[in-house]
Amino acid sequence: MMTLTGFYFDGHSARRHSVTLELRDDVLHLTGDVTRSDAFAAVDIPSPLGHTPRRILFTDGAHCEVTDYAAFDAMFPSTQHGLSLVAQLEARWTYVLAALAITVAIFAAGYVWGLPYAAGKVAERIPEHMLVAMDDQTIKTLDQQEVLQPSKLSQARQSALISRLRAMKWPQGAAMPGRVYFRSAPEIGPNAFAFPGGSVVMLDELVNVSDNDEQILAVLAHEMGHVTERHAVRNMLQASAVGLVMTWYVGDISTLLAAAPTALLSTSYSRDFERRADDFSARVLALNGIPPERLGELLLKLEAAYADKEGTRPEWMDYLATHPNTAERVRKAREKTNTDAK
Ligand SMILES: [Zn+2]
Repeated sequence: MMTLTGFYFDGHSARRHSVTLELRDDVLHLTGDVTRSDAFAAVDIPSPLGHTPRRILFTDGAHCEVTDYAAFDAMFPSTQHGLSLVAQLEARWTYVLAALAITVAIFAAGYVWGLPYAAGKVAERIPEHMLVAMDDQTIKTLDQQEVLQPSKLSQARQSALISRLRAMKWPQGAAMPGRVYFRSAPEIGPNAFAFPGGSVVMLDELVNVSDNDEQILAVLAHEMGHVTERHAVRNMLQASAVGLVMTWYVGDISTLLAAAPTALLSTSYSRDFERRADDFSARVLALNGIPPERLGELLLKLEAAYADKEGTRPEWMDYLATHPNTAERVRKAREKTNTDAK
């Protein structure tokens, strides 16, 4: 008759008892320090778990441990599931790979959906006065670094543009343009920025390249679309997971402030953000009786202006990099005009 030696634990104390196990007529008999007999059907034998002792669990909480794996499997062949070693390894590897795939998928989902979602939620929570403070510091820094230089536009021209901007109607819930700064920036070229707090920087180069004020207002309306939906803040938060966490828990936007001047100018918006800003611009233009193609017209002029400057423009301030697919957007604006005209 086959027997097996092992240790018995009564489930109450850590003390181990040496026992001999014997399976006879479907009854498991223990002898030695402890004597007990249990119907084999009533005991539980868990699957092997690495190099840990094989275990036999009794219904009352007691258990046996056996380290002689070969003898154990010989006595309880059914618990080995008849798998060869290779098959067992394969089963284990399949499990490990599946677990790994699930882990990777969870992280990927967190990155693709979770991070933008969190950034969007945090961006909504940042109070407007903080964003305005961020604007002020950013513009101050850009002035100090002489990225922005004094405007050469006449006071009359500046006042006229401000009047037109102030007279514009905006959709309900939209961010309104805040302070307007006139600057020149030959390095940047024709452009206008709206910073996250709604401050507007209008460059001489843009004013000079435009055919009319409506084109300038169209670009500003597009920029205010980014402001309204807080695209720049969302981008900055996403780019800096640390900033996101700090802002979320501590309500401290200093990490954002430090990165703002560079981040705001080099921001590259997703196609989705650009489309939303274009749609916003179209709504604003319609609200103000300005033909929607004004935005496309100016974008084509900008594209031409940059084509002339090829090779000299700094890559990080490329309007076309931050506002890609001009042709597609112009086409879309035209289609919209045609549809509206019908
Ligand atoms: Zn844009």
